[in-house]
This record gives sequence, C-alpha cells and structure tokens, in this order.
Amino acid sequence: MQAMNDHHQPPLDLPALFHAQHTASRALIDVPLAWRLERLQRVQHLVETHGAALADAVQADFGVRSRQLTDVADHFVLLAAIGQLKKKLPRWMKPQRVSTPLYLQPATAHIQRQPLGVVGVIGPWNYPLQLTLGPLVAALAAGNRVMIKPSELTPQSSALLADLLHAVFPADEVVVVQGGADVAHDFASLPFDHLFFTGSTAVGRKVAEAAAKNLTPTTLELGGKSPCIVDASCAAGSGLADAALKVAHGKLLNAGQTCIAPDYILLPKGREAEFEQAYAHSVARLFPTIGGNPDYASIVTDRHHARLTDLLDEAQKLGATVRELVPVAVSSGIANKSMPSSAGGQKSLKIEGHPRQMTPTLVFNPPAHSRLMTEEIFGPILPVLTYTTLDEAIAHINARPRPLALYWFGTDTAARDRVLNRTVSGGVTVNDTLLHIAHDNLPFGGVGESGWGAYHGEAGFLRFTQQKPVLVQSRWAMGQLFYPPYGQRFEQVMGLLKRWL
Ligand code: NAD
Repeated sequence: MQAMNDHHQPPLDLPALFHAQHTASRALIDVPLAWRLERLQRVQHLVETHGAALADAVQADFGVRSRQLTDVADHFVLLAAIGQLKKKLPRWMKPQRVSTPLYLQPATAHIQRQPLGVVGVIGPWNYPLQLTLGPLVAALAAGNRVMIKPSELTPQSSALLADLLHAVFPADEVVVVQGGADVAHDFASLPFDHLFFTGSTAVGRKVAEAAAKNLTPTTLELGGKSPCIVDASCAAGSGLADAALKVAHGKLLNAGQTCIAPDYILLPKGREAEFEQAYAHSVARLFPTIGGNPDYASIVTDRHHARLTDLLDEAQKLGATVRELVPVAVSSGIANKSMPSSAGGQKSLKIEGHPRQMTPTLVFNPPAHSRLMTEEIFGPILPVLTYTTLDEAIAHINARPRPLALYWFGTDTAARDRVLNRTVSGGVTVNDTLLHIAHDNLPFGGVGESGWGAYHGEAGFLRFTQQKPVLVQSRWAMGQLFYPPYGQRFEQVMGLLKRWL
C-alpha cells in the first residue's frame, strides 16, 4: 500500500489541486452522459473489488466494527445509489421543458441542467465510506469534479480511500486530501462551486462561515437530538415489544454513532417499567453479549468514550435513574438484566472485550439542563422522558432545535398525523427507525440546526446541478407592444392582459 501511496498521493498544495480542477471544469462544461456513467462505473468497481479491504480498514479504525455493518450501511447503500444514478441519469440530464404562460407565448422555455464545476466534500468518521463516496457519486453524476476531505479519525480508511480513488481518477477529476482540523479549515476556505459538509453542528457553523467568504453555497448535513415518540396507542405486549426492538436496533447500530439514531424516547407516563423490560429484552436479542461481540461496534476513540461516561455520570449525579443493560447468561439462552448503575458509565470498562465497547444504557428522566439532554448523545445511551398528553410531547420537540430525524410508534393514525403536521424535522420514519435514509426517492437532509440542503436520488443530482432557465423567443412574439414610448397602445394591451391573468 505504501508503494501505491508514493505513486498516487499528490503533494498537499490545496490551491494547486483546486486550480487544476477549476481549470478542467471550465474547459469542459458539457460533460457527456457516457463520461459520467464511466466515472460512476469506476467507483462501483472500486467498491465491488475492494469492499473487503475497505471494511477491514474501517474495522481497524474503530477497534470493533463488523464487516457486515460496513457492508450494509456503506457498500450496499452506495451500490444502490450508483445503480439508481446509472438508470435515471439519461432522463435527469435532459433539458426539462416547462409550459409557458399565455402572456409570453409563443416563446418556449426549458431548464438546462449543467454541472456546477468543482465540488468539495468534507466527511465524518462514523460511516466513512457512505458519507464521502455517496456525495461523490451524486456530484460525478451531475458532471462535476470533486475534492474530498475525509475524517482524520478514521486514518486507515481515509488513506485506503485516497489510494484507491487516486489509482482510478486523475487529480483534476477526483482528489482526496487527508489531514486534521487545520487542513479541513483551509479546505473549507477554497472557492468551491459547492461545498458539501457532513459532521457536527458546531463545525458546520465554521464551514458555513468559511464558505460565505467566497459566496460558496453549502449543503450542511449535521446532527442533533432526534426524538422518538412512543404513542399511547402502541399496545402493551407485542406492540411495545416491536417498537422497543426497532428502537434498540436504530440506537445500537454502530453503538449509537449514527446521525439519525433515535437520541431519546418520549414515553407515555406510567409505562417506564414495561418499556425497560421490552428494551432490555431487545438488546439481549440483538447483542447477547457486549464485550468481545464482533457485531457490537466500539466507540471510535478514548476521548469519545470518556465523553459518554461523563454524560452518564453527570445525569446520575443530577438524580436521573441509570440502568445499564448488562448481559447475563441464563440456562434457556442469553438475556440482558437491567442493573441499577452505582458508578455511572465506569461499569462498562469492566466488561471483557474491547475497552471501548460500551454497555447499552437507559436513563430515566434526566434533567432538561443535563448534558445528556442538551448535547447530541452519539452513543448507546437512551434517555427516557415521559409525557402525559401528546401536546406536551409536541411542545417539548418544538421548544428545541429542529431535529434531523423524528420517529413515531403507534396505531392511532390521527395522533400520528398530529405529530407529523405539528413538528418539523429533517425526515421521519413511522413505526421503525432509520429507514427513510435508505429510500432513494426521498431527499435526505436536515432543517435548522440539523442542517440545510438535501441529497440522495434526484435531490442529490440536483444538489450538484445548475438548473439554468432558458427562454427561447419566437419570431412571432408581440413583446414590442410593451416598449416605450408608453401611450394608449400600451394601456390597451396591458388592460387586456390583466383580464387574462
Ligand atoms: P466533526 O464535525 O467533528 O468532523 C467532520 C469533518 O469536519 C472532519 O472531516 C473534520 O476534519 C472536519 N473539520 C474539523 N474542523 C473543521 C473546520 N474548522 N472546517 C472545516 N472542516 C472541519 O464531525 P464528526 O465527529 O466526524 O461526526 C459526527 C457528527 O456528524 C455528529 O454530529 C453527527 O450527527 C454528524 N453526522 C451527520 C450526518 C448527516 O447525514 N446529517 C451523518 C453522519 C454524521
């Protein structure tokens, strides 16, 4: 791999790398369909051929992160996106005819779809392939050149990604720039035609600031606290068991390090014990063991792990009830036992296996001002808040920044519609978690503090496309009737036109 690095890693001269892409993007604007398809094919081949090596690199970066998780959440999602782009691109690229209002006829009009030019992509560490290659393929499909800055917290995946992309793309088509916050800051300061950022809200602000200096438009795919409402209509027994299983899956996939993971639960008051039991059972079903379980991801770094244990400790000191779901072997199989925690998150360190495989935890009624309830959690800790009326739950959500995702479980469709109509979030899945992100015909993105702009499917293609309006005048046009000098003729024609509106 070192040899590949030597050959294909360009020197880190950001302005020069940008200049090469910028010049190439202006020299050829009308990028043919065949070229775009061929570029997509190169990325597809890369994922298909080197998927296992990429998954190994992600695993090495995390400590524990199963190949299957990378396969479903990174590779499958990417291959599905490429498949859709290849199928739909011929239609999406075409000029789009629009109807012309009577007062402009017989002119005709259409929207011409053109590449923006040079797109910058800054990625996070949690799904390091999907969240760099996903924007890449949408931008390539739209005919752009792309510079990628992957996360410094997944150095092995970032290095391999760079080697693989540099082996199949010239630097003026696709280039990967590696480095930490300093490089990221300089990267965000380049005068891109569009800058696509996935990461935290705090860094998103800095990116928006740097881009504004160049009037570079941005897409900000940020995070936040995504609520999950369990409705009163979610039946005791199988209804709640099903909801708890789906919440546990959404929360514990990648050990909670997922932007759209349910951050906290809003539960009808009085159902806490029932939910605790159902959730503990679900955790046991998904992850019969925690420490040493290759299916259960570790927290990405010691710093992130320490932050999570601090959140737990603080919540406990502030009076919240913390329940660690410690796996316990029983004769009929493996079950989880819900254990009151006396030492906050420190207990998780005692479990055998990787030291950063953190025990799933429920936290009942943490105070509103605790860090657990003011910061995005991004780990396997699930706070449970209770409500008495649905209006109270809705008011709780609306009093906080608009979330990236919202989840609702129940059977009462009127209650469901009240929540859908009276809350605003980046996206919603009803009676499940996470899945709206996987639907290619749904735009994916945030709103307010969870970000702006959306991609996936046609929304992604259009994100990186200039939709240029073109009006084609007819030789039979009557526009001169409106030219000065203004007089009686103008008044008569204007009067007539106003009657047609
Ligand atoms: P982060 O904001 O710490 O880092 C993301 C990227 O920003 C990294 O590549 C980093 O090098 C770069 N960066 C750091 N300082 C910068 C600066 N001054 N200017 C420009 N770039 C800079 O985020 P993270 O910890 O990697 O990822 C976790 C966060 O990302 C969570 O908040 C999560 O919700 C969010 N996220 C959002 C989505 C989404 O699709 N909305 C997806 C995944 C993760």
